[in-house]
Amino acid sequence: MRFDVPDWDGAVAALRDAQEIAIACHVNPDGDALGSLFATHLGLSRLGKRTYPTWGTAPLALPFGYQFLPGADSVIQPGDLPVTDTFLALDCGAADRLGTLEPNMRKAAVTVNVDHHPGNDEFGTHNIVVTDVSSTAELVTRLLQDLGVEIDRDIATNLYTGLVTDTGRFQYSNSTPDTLRLAADLRALGVDATAIAQEVFESSPFGYLKLVGRVLDRAVLFEEVRFVYSWVTQKDLAETGVDIDETDKLIDAVRATRAADVAALFKQQSGGSYRVSLRSKGPSVGAIARRRGGGGHELAAGFTAPDVEKTVAELRAELAPER
Ligand code: 5GP
Ligand code: MN
Repeated sequence: MRFDVPDWDGAVAALRDAQEIAIACHVNPDGDALGSLFATHLGLSRLGKRTYPTWGTAPLALPFGYQFLPGADSVIQPGDLPVTDTFLALDCGAADRLGTLEPNMRKAAVTVNVDHHPGNDEFGTHNIVVTDVSSTAELVTRLLQDLGVEIDRDIATNLYTGLVTDTGRFQYSNSTPDTLRLAADLRALGVDATAIAQEVFESSPFGYLKLVGRVLDRAVLFEEVRFVYSWVTQKDLAETGVDIDETDKLIDAVRATRAADVAALFKQQSGGSYRVSLRSKGPSVGAIARRRGGGGHELAAGFTAPDVEKTVAELRAELAPER
């Protein structure tokens, strides 16, 4: 199966012709980024290619709940990435999502950009950007199949991890009948969905429970615009013993109220600024994030802000119905 994008055949040919391929997902990788990374690493290796899976954070460390992914032990530090003719970027809505590897991508003779984020700026030589699929893993599955890769249990485990994380365990609107059929096909290949769920969703350190308590306790609701927000400071992380990389799913606790349509979580970085996660049941938060130099999907997006209070005031004003 192929997707109806003009560059599909060009991308397949570029990967088929390549000998050595640098493969990178976005910084702060999630399950879709990592699943797509290791699925392509394993699949392209089986075609006899030399592959270098990595992402642009130095030093790079595999997030805790994803260390089980088959192929994850092959990950290399971004600084060790050799110069390759071909560069494959995965799940990056914009070139700057490659972090320190953006210059490497620019230097490659051929770049293939595989992504599903609206607003992707098509930075590749070949761009496989399909915004109505659940995940980059869904695109990667079809690319690997078109390249003649036999999807085995290890590759399927990576692809399924991408699907289950980017669809919020098959709950969000991006989980289509095609997505569910693909998940079923992957499970039929022997994927242990229960083990994946435990690794990914139930492997937080004990201190994480305390952190969730703090975040929920201090949450603020603006009833009139149906907006809820909370925040995490560096002090919270230090006192609960939780690493910032383990806070990706914290926003899911904040969004759980029927009193709000839009939820925001501000996470203070070591430099002092805040990474903001936005989730929505309707209003486009993708546009809000893009206006602030971030990006994402219509209902799940992110950006960086210098502070909490001023940004909250702006978000509140933007969410107010126009009169
Ligand atoms: P999260 O809140 O989980 O960090 O991100 C939600 C979604 O927005 C993900 O699809 C993520 O890739 C995207 N996203 C988050 N931050 C940024 C950003 O700074 N730039 C872009 N282009 N996308 C982002
Ligand atoms: Mn994704």
